[in-house]
Amino acid sequence: MAEEILNAPVYDDAALEKEYLEKRKAQIEEDFKKPFDPDVVLEVRHLRKCFPMKKTVTGKVTKELVAVDDISFKLKAGETLGIVGESGCGKTTSGRAILKLHEPTGGQIIFNGKDITHYNSAQMRAIRKEMQIIFQDPYSSLPPRSTVGGILSEPVEVHKIVPKDQVKDYVLELMDKCGLRDYYYERYPHEFSGGQRQRICIARALSVNPKLVICDEPVSALDVSIQAQIINLLKKLQRERNLAYIFISHDLSVVKFISDKIGVMYLGAMMEFGTKEDIFRNPLHPYTKALFSAIPNPDPTVKTERIKLEGDIPSPANPPKGCRFHTRCPYAKEVCKHVPPQYKEYEEGHFAACHLLDGE
Ligand code: SF4
Repeated sequence: MAEEILNAPVYDDAALEKEYLEKRKAQIEEDFKKPFDPDVVLEVRHLRKCFPMKKTVTGKVTKELVAVDDISFKLKAGETLGIVGESGCGKTTSGRAILKLHEPTGGQIIFNGKDITHYNSAQMRAIRKEMQIIFQDPYSSLPPRSTVGGILSEPVEVHKIVPKDQVKDYVLELMDKCGLRDYYYERYPHEFSGGQRQRICIARALSVNPKLVICDEPVSALDVSIQAQIINLLKKLQRERNLAYIFISHDLSVVKFISDKIGVMYLGAMMEFGTKEDIFRNPLHPYTKALFSAIPNPDPTVKTERIKLEGDIPSPANPPKGCRFHTRCPYAKEVCKHVPPQYKEYEEGHFAACHLLDGE
């Protein structure tokens, strides 16, 4: 025991952090020089979003909360990227930063072959119709004093999607595609159930013919029986319109059903990313394995070993040093407490950040 302690490596945290940040900076600079992929609708490179927590009297930020730290992925037309993770892991902030509803602190957002990271509000207004969002709460996201017809006609008129005299027909057709009866046109949101309201929200998002839709927990507020209907509607509309979705959810079963690619987030960072098949066939990261072990198996003869994560999620304002998952990871070693693991590609298109994968 004494020998073990004497031979244990001594870590200089400050030097390790410096080395890690330098490596990451070099990687970011290299990635920023890469040409844009013409086959993708959305490419996100090293996205970062920080919120100031403390400022001096002169306005200098002295402490910040890193809500999203170094997120990268590509998404093609007709594909769904599911982003999963526990509450507060940065899923929603990532979605909002991609739409520039939150101004990104760093990274690149390439939409339709254009770098929109530094677009001003006028430039964003011009492309806003191509990037839409569906919110979690269909009860608060519809204006209570407008009829369904008014809610759906407004964006169509503002963005001049069809000539003025064709707006009503266009809206009625859209309502039909979204499973809404035509006599709902004159009705108000309070007259509808949660599922129907979410259909109205989906119709509103699609009314302007977007290419990308961010679905932020779109079924979490709905009854389980209604969830499947909404998910099936989203899938049908995606097929018909070749839409790209980012589907944010804490429910892995839903994400498994709808997604082509999956990103697993923890404390603001992407822990693992890959195709649905790769991630479910061969989950690499201990956090992904723990999340998957919690999915109930409908077959009572199959025994799944549940990996219980101890402790609470640390505060994003003060994330642990080294691997940010080390305080809850059942496999954490000494190195994990000091050295942040590199986010690397281990199979084609399958990325993860964990020392275990490097044999450490
Ligand atoms: Fe666990 Fe260490 Fe891997 Fe982090 S790097 S997930 S603490 S084994």
